Order: sequence, then C-alpha cells, then structure tokens
Amino acid sequence: MENGSIPIIQIEEQFRIMADTAPVMIWISGVDKLCYFFNAGWLRFTGRTQEEEYGNGWAEGVHPDDLERCLEIYVGSFDARAEFKMEYRLKRHDGQYRWLLDHGVSRYAPDGAFAGYIGSCIDITELKEDEIRKNDFIGMVSHELKTPLTSLNALLQVAQAKLKTNEDTFLRSGIEKAVNQVKKMGTMINGFLNVSRLESGKITIDKQHFNLGELVSDIIEETELSLSVHEIHFIPCEAVTVYADRDKIGSVMANLLSNAVKYSPKGKRITVNCKVEENTASVSVKDDGMGIAPHDVKKLFDRYYRVESKQTRHISGFGIGLYLCAEIMEWHGGKIWVESELGKGSTFFFSLPLT
Ligand code: ADP
Repeated sequence: MENGSIPIIQIEEQFRIMADTAPVMIWISGVDKLCYFFNAGWLRFTGRTQEEEYGNGWAEGVHPDDLERCLEIYVGSFDARAEFKMEYRLKRHDGQYRWLLDHGVSRYAPDGAFAGYIGSCIDITELKEDEIRKNDFIGMVSHELKTPLTSLNALLQVAQAKLKTNEDTFLRSGIEKAVNQVKKMGTMINGFLNVSRLESGKITIDKQHFNLGELVSDIIEETELSLSVHEIHFIPCEAVTVYADRDKIGSVMANLLSNAVKYSPKGKRITVNCKVEENTASVSVKDDGMGIAPHDVKKLFDRYYRVESKQTRHISGFGIGLYLCAEIMEWHGGKIWVESELGKGSTFFFSLPLT
C-alpha cells in the first residue's frame, strides 16, 4: 500500500525514528488501558526493556506514594476519554526518583473509533525542587511573622479594653483601627501559611456534623463587625446538617464575603442565599460590584491569579483566597463556581454533598 509516492512502511519508520529521538518519553496504550509501546527515551530513562514495561509493568517504577493517585487519574481520564496532566515520581535507571510531568491524550483510528491513549513525559525535577524551596520559604516567613503579630495583637486588645472608657476619642478610634489592621495582616499571613501547608500536604480535614445556615450566619455577623459598610442580606434555608470541616467551610464563606466587599466598592448590597436540593446544600454570595470578564473567570481559582485592571490595581490581595477555597471544596467532594457579568456584579456559589 502506498500513500502518494512514499511507502507506508517508510512513513512508519520515520515516525519511529522521530519518537525515539525526540527529547521526550512517550508511551502508548490500547483500548484495554494496557501500555504496548515505550519509546527509546522512556527505556533509556528507566533502564528497563520494552517487555518489562509492557501492560502495567511501568507502574513498578512509580514512587509508591504517587502510584494510587496516578492510577486514579489515568483510569478516571481514560474512562471519560479526557485529556490529563499529572506529576509523579518515576525511578530512573540509577535508582533515583525523578519528577515527571505526564501529558496524556486519547487516540482515534482513521474511522473515528477510540484506540487508546498516547502520553508524553518530561523531567521536571529541577522545577519541582525550586517550587518546594520557594514553598518552604513562604511557610517559614509566614510562621516567623506570626509570632510578633500575635504578641502585638494581644497587647492591642488589652490596651483597647483599658481605653474603653477613656475620654480621648482619637486614642480610642486609633486603637480600634490598629486592631483591625493587625487582624487584616493576620488573615494575609494565614493565607500564605495555608498555601504552604497545602502544597506540602500538611493540611488535614477535620469533619464534624454542623448546621450550615448557622455557620453562614455567624460568618456574616463577623464580617459585618470587622469589614463592612455594606449591607449584607441573608436569605436563610431550611435547617440542614452537613458533615464537613466547620472551620474550613467557614473560611470559604469568609473569603467570598470579604471579596464581595472588596470588589464592590460602589454596589453596597450583598445577598447571601442558602439552598437545599436533593443531594446538596449550596450557598451563594451575590454582589453588585465590578464583575469579572469571561477570560478571567476561567483562571480565577488558580494559585496567585488576580484580575489586572484599572479598578483592581489599587485593591490589595495576593490571589490565594479563591485557590484555597477551591482546594477546600475539592477535599469535601464539593464544588465552587462563579457567574458574573463585567460591570454588573458577581455571584459566587459553593455546594457540599449531603450524605
Ligand atoms: P485576592 O482578592 O487576594 O486577590 P482571591 O483569590 O480571593 O485573591 O481572588 C482572585 C481574584 O478574583 C481577585 O484578585 C479579583 O480580581 C477577583 N475577584 C474575586 N472575587 C471577586 C468579586 N466578588 N468580584 C469581582 N472580582 C472578584
């Protein structure tokens, strides 16, 4: 059989040479999820033979701490025919584990029938180590900053109590403002500390049964006390008990409320709604603020992502709040999303499964 003037066999040979010389590691699997091809780059890296890697043989080289997650992503994506990117450690021929970024996509035969997957991997160990160092640094700095701030906070609280009946209104309001500023700083530092803990897998989820409506109402009260000149309108739902980490869900709520305040300087009304559906309980926070453009919506929950515009330039923040919210919701098997129109306002939603 011929394609134009080049024989198929020659084309195949060219592709094989390309696959073997490209500076990536390539694997191919069939419809049964089993791998049947590894390029020379892969085999050079692992120091194993094609036969040893066949089927699920490759999994023997994956770091035991990464294997379960790896298989979950592979099988889950495979069943959904979805593209995936995953990071895991694979044993190199010298026994050292190296971090790989593996990018898998589904393959189709010329007649359109699903044929399996093809994946390409690159070694990202240096990048990963840089990231780990940066993360440890953020953790260390946040931790060190917390200690003096805690003492400062305690001293200010005592001073505030002592000055409660003092006639000097300047002093009284000065201390109140200082307490609020220290609180703000504490929230920022805690945000960084949480990102660092999250990245190094040190955050634990402590689930308990609690009333979601009560938590939402508590957080609204706290926000009104510390932040707001806004008017927060709460539409409560029927009593619903959820099984989740109360503090963490509270921090999601607090974050959405403080964003609604921060990003709607002119629209003063914020509406919080709680809804119970068959299998989920959801909460929404609606503001009439600046809104978000569709291309920003897609990236809003990414780490360190902030919308860049004339309006947001002067609003302080680090783009970690929504990232943490999204991670917290994922640990709970819940969801978080936003509906927004630029210039009109945004509604953020989160939902928790009811067990
Ligand atoms: P931060 O507010 O500290 O920058 P977040 O992760 O909480 O970080 O938010 C990320 C970005 O999303 C913000 O920088 C802002 O541009 C946008 N954003 C969040 N909430 C709203 C909102 N209610 N209205 C408009 N933009 C918002």
